[in-house]
Amino acid sequence: MAKPVLQCEKLNRILDNREISRYDIDDVFKGALHNQYELFETAKYLRHKYKNKTITFSKKVFFNLINLCRDKCSYCTYKAELSDSKLTLMDKTHVAQLARLAKKYRCVEALLVTGEKPEDKYEYARYWLKKNGFKNSAEYLIHISELVLNEGLFPHTNAGNLNIEDMHELRKTNSSVGIMIENISDRLTKKGMPHHKAPSKRFENRLKTLTNAGKLKIPITTGLLIGIGETYNEIIDSIYAIKEAHKNFGNIQEIILQNFLPKSDTEMKYYPAPTEMYFKIIVALCRIIMPEANIQIPPNLSSKSYQNFLDAGINDWGGISPLTPDYVNPECPWPKIHTIKNNTEKMGLILKSRFPVYPEFMKYIDKNVRDKMNPIMDKDLLVKSEYWL
Ligand code: SF4
Repeated sequence: MAKPVLQCEKLNRILDNREISRYDIDDVFKGALHNQYELFETAKYLRHKYKNKTITFSKKVFFNLINLCRDKCSYCTYKAELSDSKLTLMDKTHVAQLARLAKKYRCVEALLVTGEKPEDKYEYARYWLKKNGFKNSAEYLIHISELVLNEGLFPHTNAGNLNIEDMHELRKTNSSVGIMIENISDRLTKKGMPHHKAPSKRFENRLKTLTNAGKLKIPITTGLLIGIGETYNEIIDSIYAIKEAHKNFGNIQEIILQNFLPKSDTEMKYYPAPTEMYFKIIVALCRIIMPEANIQIPPNLSSKSYQNFLDAGINDWGGISPLTPDYVNPECPWPKIHTIKNNTEKMGLILKSRFPVYPEFMKYIDKNVRDKMNPIMDKDLLVKSEYWL
């Protein structure tokens, strides 16, 4: 892709590999509110420079292990209460059954999800875990990770904050883990704001988990939820915080930018979603702040127009399941993989399947996990096309 010829001197500096200041980012943002062309050309050029034509996704199966959570975010529809019909506590027999079915579908990733330390709040969760032979949800996740790895899937745990001892155990089976920052703003934790009843979402707690992963050299996925009442400045501060964390340990493998969608059974049901154009501008700004990063948007949250985000510099569609729903956004089915492939190719790009760990972070993972990947891995450390197509 030829280097674009731009009017904007700040964007030209980025194209010439020179950093621009936070102040300059604000200027680019203000300009983009009127005309996005040069920002998007820059974002696309940077994506091409670092990722070439490759757009990745992870073929996954979603294990909704325990959807009780000690916290309460105002936008969350994943969390269940004991009386809810959606309450799920998935025992290891059901995990093994689903894992075997997922293998038949040639899924690669096992996404393991629980709410934040459910046993801290719910007597029933403590009882259930004990009945199944576990002290707490972290111990259960460690066991389930081993189970799914032995079934031929690659676990990626996303269970909120984890302490360093538990992460050390998970490292033996998980090629990556995930924790969303959502936003670093302390303001969002005040009364009436979305994280008021979610102490786990305080940035100091999220940062501790990112730091633990960094110390243990575990590739980690993090990201932001855009449109929950934060300001533009709080979004940019959050992207810079991720950049800083990556500078310290070099293990942030991916940034997910997720657009808030109001859900009917939540406190934020009448809160407006961000406009697509605003969200696209934020995505493109993330690309110019962290040009080499892997940046994902979930296609099921922009189901009619996800391909437009290729113009804003993303290089990944995240986990897509041919088998299980997105339990975090159950109203948003994933598009079919072949449809995503066609839409990616229409933009002149190539869809490839990755492991839960990106190729450039493969050097960090446990040898046992890597050995299990080898039979289905291609020379670029991605999943062989004949396996997933
Ligand atoms: S978003 Fe996560 S931490 Fe917040 S209530 Fe839902 S499950 Fe709990």
